[in-house]
This record gives sequence, structure tokens and C-alpha cells, in this order.
Amino acid sequence: MGKADTSLKQEQERFELIFENSPVAIWEEDLSALIRLREDLKKRTVTNLRKYLLEHPDLIRQTYQEIKILNINRAALQVTGAETKEQLVANLGKFFTKELSHVLVDKFVALLQGKQFFQAELKVRSFRGKVYDALLKVSIPAEYVKTLRHAIVTLEDITESKKMERHLRNLAQVDSLTKLYNHRTIIQRLEAEFARAKRYGSSLSVMMIDVDHFKVINDAYGHQKGDQIIRRVAAALKKSIRQVDVIGRYGGDEFFIILPETKAQNAKTAAARIQNIFATKGFIIRANTAVKVALSIGISGFPANNVKEAKDLITRSDNAMYAAKKAGRNRIVLG
Ligand code: GH3
Ligand code: MG
Repeated sequence: MGKADTSLKQEQERFELIFENSPVAIWEEDLSALIRLREDLKKRTVTNLRKYLLEHPDLIRQTYQEIKILNINRAALQVTGAETKEQLVANLGKFFTKELSHVLVDKFVALLQGKQFFQAELKVRSFRGKVYDALLKVSIPAEYVKTLRHAIVTLEDITESKKMERHLRNLAQVDSLTKLYNHRTIIQRLEAEFARAKRYGSSLSVMMIDVDHFKVINDAYGHQKGDQIIRRVAAALKKSIRQVDVIGRYGGDEFFIILPETKAQNAKTAAARIQNIFATKGFIIRANTAVKVALSIGISGFPANNVKEAKDLITRSDNAMYAAKKAGRNRIVLG
């Protein structure tokens, strides 16, 4: 064996070592089935590739099954939960789901457009039945863009980072004391609901709710007990509304409720029901001490004169709430 052969062999061994032991799951695939798919579609004079593929999942499945796996590494077994490479290759059809089908459409379209790189997030069910969030990446070496005979595919389990992402999003949207939507988020939700009501010509109402004399409660029992009561008022409000209604903590002792598909008059009935619940309820803060909480509620609705945008509903319900305070508290005013 010549010197050149030896170094080639060493290179080969080094490559295999890296490939096999890469912490990332790697597939080497032959995607030339896509070229056949393109020829096939050309014959059918398909112009909108993406639309056509979405309407023909059978074609996607067939092409998916024609993809040849040239090589896979150990991490690919781990991420899919397969025992052996043979088992993985033989059972790839089991991974075919509606969601994968959609990802494949995007992937096929991208690669047929000559893109060298594609990535997508999807849910994958492993051989052991565990469903996880995965990040799929496909890279085509420049010399194979035309034939697609060689693709490097990686699949990463991103369950943990997705979980963290959801957690962070939740933290940014939610008020930490009450776990209701915070001020910013409830306004965003109102804007979305308002746009929807306007577009579909449906009605929409809101309630601005402020606890009466909350300072007295704070002074009597302390700030900590005050916090506890705010939390329980929030829970009681949430429990007293419909599933489709949206509630947020607007400020200190102030709450905001969005009632989609609801006329102001009906929101008034709902507000009266809430007040009744609070009238009969005592928030027990220590043995033998139940605190009664009364609410002043301002209501405004869409459609109405002078309600042109979401913030008009806020202004009007806020003014109505102040009118309720002025009129003696523990009452409802329609703005
Ligand atoms: P009103 O009937 O006019 O609403 O009287 P009020 O005492 O409730 O006064 P207002 O609504 O203007 O002020 C609310 C008070 O609630 C102010 C503040 O001392 C208290 N507060 C606001 N946020 C919190 C909180 O997170 N925890 C506690 N413990 N108290 C709060
Ligand atoms: Mg108050």
C-alpha cells in the first residue's frame, strides 16, 4: 500500500469516527426521487407546485418512501428510539404523519427550487412512542443541487428549548401575582378581538372592574394579605366568566374582561352575576376572618357611536367605572 493510500484510509477512518460519534443525529440521503417527482409534475403541467403537493398527500408519501437512506449514525438511532439502523430504515413509513407531510411539502418545494438549505420544526414520535419537538435541517452539497443524490439531514430533539421558550413567553404575558394576562397582553388581546368584531360585524363588550376600598383592606390586614386577596379575587373573577371571555389584570386592584360576541346589555347581566357572587362570598384570610370584597364595574360595547377603535372601549369602560365609584361604589355603569 502506497503512502497516499494510507493517508486516504486514515482520512476515511477519521471521517467515519466523526460521523458515527457525532452528538447530532445525521442521515445521508439520496433525494433523487424528488427529481423524478418534478418530471412527473411537469408531465401533468402543474404550475403551482406547493398547492398541488398539498392537495396530493399520496404523492408526498410515495416520494418520501422512495427517498434512499445511504447512511445513518448512532445519534440518529438515539433520537428516533430505534434499536438498529435496519429497523429504522425499515420503519420510516411509521414517521409519516399529516404534520410531516406538510413539512415535506415545504422541503420538497425548497429543494426543487434549487435551495441548498432547508429547516423546519416539527413534532416527531419516536419508536418508543414518545412525542418530542424536533428541528430538522437539510443541507445539499453544491455539486448535488441538480441531482439531489446526496443530502445531509440532521434531526435535533429541541423539547427542552421549546419548553423554555413557552415558559419565557408565558412569563412575558402573565402577571406574576394573579397568573392572569398582564396589562400589555390584555390590551393586545382586546385589539385582536376588536379587529375581529369589526371584520365580522359581531358585537363585543368589555368590563373595567375595580375593587372598592382596597386601601382599607391593605391597611387593616397588611400588604401581604392584600396580595393574597388580589390573587383570590382574580381567581374568583376568572371562575365566573365563560371560557371564551378573556381576563387580565389591568393594574393594582383593577381587572379587565373582554367578552366576545356579547352585547353591552348582556355584559351588564354578566356583571350583575359577578357582583352577586362577590356579595355572598367571603375571602377567608385567617381563622374567623372573612373579608368581603365589593366591585365597581364599568361596561362599554361595540358597535356603538364613538367606538371607532379598541382604545375607545377602554376609555369608555374606565369612565363608566369611575362613574360607578362616584355614584356610591358596588355598582355597574354602562358607558
Ligand atoms: P376605590 O374604591 O376608590 O377603588 O378605593 P381603593 O382603596 O381601592 O383605591 P384605588 O383603587 O384607587 O387604589 C387601589 C389600591 O390598591 C392602591 C394600593 O394601595 C393597592 N394595591 C394596588 N396594587 C396592589 C398589590 O399588588 N398588592 C396590594 N396588597 N395592594 C395593592
Ligand atoms: Mg380600588
